[in-house]
Amino acid sequence: MATILHADMDAFYASVEQLDNPELHGKPVAVGYGGRRGVVAAASYEARRFGVRSAMASSVAKNLCPELVFIRSRMPRYAAISADVREIFYRYTPLIEPLSLDEAYLDVGGSLRLFGSAGEIAQSIRRDIREELNLPCSVGGGSGKLVAKIASKKAKPDGMLIVEEVDTLEFLRPLSVSEIWGVGRVTEQKLLDMGIATIGQLADYDPEVLERELGRWGPLLHGLANGEDLRTVEGDRARKSYGEENTFEYDATEPDLIEATVIAHAETVARRLRRDGVQGQTVMLKYRSSGRDVDFKLVTRSHTLDTPTDDGAVIGRVATDLWRAEPKHPPIRLVGVQVSGLEGDKPVQLGLFNEGEGDQRSKALNAALDDIVKRFGASSIKRGGA
Ligand SMILES: [Mg+2]
Repeated sequence: MATILHADMDAFYASVEQLDNPELHGKPVAVGYGGRRGVVAAASYEARRFGVRSAMASSVAKNLCPELVFIRSRMPRYAAISADVREIFYRYTPLIEPLSLDEAYLDVGGSLRLFGSAGEIAQSIRRDIREELNLPCSVGGGSGKLVAKIASKKAKPDGMLIVEEVDTLEFLRPLSVSEIWGVGRVTEQKLLDMGIATIGQLADYDPEVLERELGRWGPLLHGLANGEDLRTVEGDRARKSYGEENTFEYDATEPDLIEATVIAHAETVARRLRRDGVQGQTVMLKYRSSGRDVDFKLVTRSHTLDTPTDDGAVIGRVATDLWRAEPKHPPIRLVGVQVSGLEGDKPVQLGLFNEGEGDQRSKALNAALDDIVKRFGASSIKRGGA
């Protein structure tokens, strides 16, 4: 059964800019720095039609699409919308593993009785995001992460594709091995040299030879190609810390921007802590510097509070203080906030989406349903099989 979803906002930063600036509607938009050494962080679908892609040098993008409109990124805004998107995901399952501001894996295996099939849940999520945030999101689904992620890519833009478990191999076999997460150019070339271009050819290959050629990675790839994907969705409740981070598309130096981004991450982390009824005592700031005089090294600074907190203002203040206390403020490419040293009562809410009976569970389930009805009306409730 398909129980894993991969939800991915379409051209996220560019879509947010088009949402906030109606004059950009229907225009080719690139979020990123248009100057020298600039890179495209996100391209609207109108820009993609010209071949503009994220991570492309801005000069190349301009050549492909002379009327391309460059917009500087507004990370705090994207982080805030990302938190709203997560809130929508959480309506349908507590098992969410964010990969970045705009994509996440969801394990909906425990939610099927409450909300219907994986496909129905995917549609509900897409509908909620469209209706409440006015943004497009594509969702892929399958019995494992690999299939779900490839499916969401195939579903784009603004679509969905659920691959049922029985169809997994048929879906995977014709695809290029480069579709497998973690297969970069080097591994792909190595596989091509062995006569392996498709996932099907990889699936049929002798795993011992693969191990000889690729080491431990070989049998793992062989398993993935055969639909064996045992990776689980790492939800918050399994975590020892809660973190949010982002990458800038250029070397960010503006103090206001960096601090606003840190505060937005702190608020999102705090919301997740409160949702799970936990508090954290240690606040960590991390950043990756990218100036010419410094190496691309990840720096972490932390501070432990006297008492644990789930207050976004407190977390934000500590994290910005850590940033301000840095002796040097190099240009940065990545910034994140993490809270650890957790205390509190995680398992209480876990019962919500679990199958099974029991007073505590049904009480919690009813409370959750009440909450949903209050917000969206009874028509929004679908009880698959219950
Ligand atoms: Mg995306």
